[in-house]
Amino acid sequence: MGVVGGGLLGLDIAYELAQQGVKVSVYEADKRLGGLAGSTKIGGVAVDRYYHAVTTTDDKVVSLAESLGLSIRWRPLGVGFYHDGQRCSMSTPVEVLRFPGLRLDDKARLAAFVLACGRIKDAEALDEQPIEAWARKLSGNRLWERLWAPLLDSKFDGHYDDLPATYLWSRMRRTAGTRSKGGREVMGAIEGGYQALVDRLADRIRSLGGEVHTSTPVRHIPASASGAAIGVVTDAGLQAHDTVVTTQLRPNLKGLLADELEHALGPDPLRYMGIVCLVARVKQSVSPYYAINITDRRVPITSVVETTHAVDPEWVDGHLIYVPKYVRSTNPILERSSEDITDEFLGHVQTLFPDFRREDVIASQVARTTVAEPVHVASVANRIPPVFAAPGLAVASSARVHPNIVHGQAIAGVAEHVAGEVLARLTTDNTQQRSAA
Ligand SMILES: Cc1cc2nc3c(=O)[nH]c(=O)nc-3n(C[C@H](O)[C@H](O)[C@H](O)COP(=O)(O)OP(=O)(O)OC[C@H]3O[C@@H](n4cnc5c(N)ncnc54)[C@H](O)[C@@H]3O)c2cc1C
Repeated sequence: MGVVGGGLLGLDIAYELAQQGVKVSVYEADKRLGGLAGSTKIGGVAVDRYYHAVTTTDDKVVSLAESLGLSIRWRPLGVGFYHDGQRCSMSTPVEVLRFPGLRLDDKARLAAFVLACGRIKDAEALDEQPIEAWARKLSGNRLWERLWAPLLDSKFDGHYDDLPATYLWSRMRRTAGTRSKGGREVMGAIEGGYQALVDRLADRIRSLGGEVHTSTPVRHIPASASGAAIGVVTDAGLQAHDTVVTTQLRPNLKGLLADELEHALGPDPLRYMGIVCLVARVKQSVSPYYAINITDRRVPITSVVETTHAVDPEWVDGHLIYVPKYVRSTNPILERSSEDITDEFLGHVQTLFPDFRREDVIASQVARTTVAEPVHVASVANRIPPVFAAPGLAVASSARVHPNIVHGQAIAGVAEHVAGEVLARLTTDNTQQRSAA
């Protein structure tokens, strides 16, 4: 079986199947494994390319990391808000009560909204409801205007009118489940980051007889005359496989699939967000919070995330801040120079944290991608298509996490599901071949 992509999803699927005795080959285009969850070096130190943490509800990731011999450093963390030119902490329920941007009745509605989200178990009906009408009804007009709309604006680059209620519901459930007794959000950092996790996964796959190839882009996925996938074409030629599993989001599959396979997939009902993200290693802590939410849109970034509140600063020889801006894949910022983006983003950091000094930056880097996350819009058909799009072709990607938002825990769930379907298909095919013989 061939897996296209050595990110978290591809390696998770390959590991699940290798443990069941399936002979797997993973093909990764990049020289390093990990994809979005991988690392980069700044000033000679390996750090996450994009900020990554685990939460206490990520039981699949935590048990996988522990089974691979990796430890996790847990910390209760602070969350801040930048609202109307003012910075404040919203780390505990008591601090939420003190938040200056909302009236007491808004805060009571916010608490009731979080509880209501916890009570809703069936997401399907939410997929049909536009987010704004739903949030206004459940939490009131002021919360929509002062909190939800600006937060969605910062996460979706101004384009959130087509989202379903599911998004906000899912987000609330993920954060509500991660609080300690003191009410703070608890987060963990995997020692060595997700990079260590994917590298160890690859070692395990190899020790189970599988192959993991880096610097090996798949150029084409050809089909037989009957329209079945027959393997992958790399620079070394055709590698035949009875099943090919792709792990890319649809825009990244363009041009890869044979026409009949592309046709079998049908139209794509989703859209996608890109991201531009500055990471800087700095001499001292910049922010008292792990992350700051920005409702004041005069600061046009998504957040400032100081991961060294979870990651041990000794692991990275300094403090790490990430300045992400989620963008539409057509946003011209994706074409701007890294120097220009660094200059602008550090300026925003100074607005939020006036004590921050640019001279404290030891090293920095800008990462960017036009396709980082799928956006599930409201009321569409074929949102999560069957795993097997055509004979021999299983299409997995982070788009399958819905109604969850995209994170490692949800990816692990998708991997289990896809591996289960692939295994069932292989078992049926073997049984049919035996009876035919
Ligand atoms: C800014 C940001 C912050 C995040 N923070 C968190 C967090 O704190 N916690 C958390 O749990 N999750 C987080 N996530 C989500 C997490 O990174 C993703 O869920 C996960 O990495 C998705 O893995 P994937 O394998 O589906 O996709 P990808 O990581 O995109 O992997 C796809 C792989 O396919 C490879 N590829 C593409 N085309 C080809 C080809 N033709 N041939 C061979 N290989 C190919 C790519 O190089 C890539 O390695 C974050 C994501 C982002 C963007």
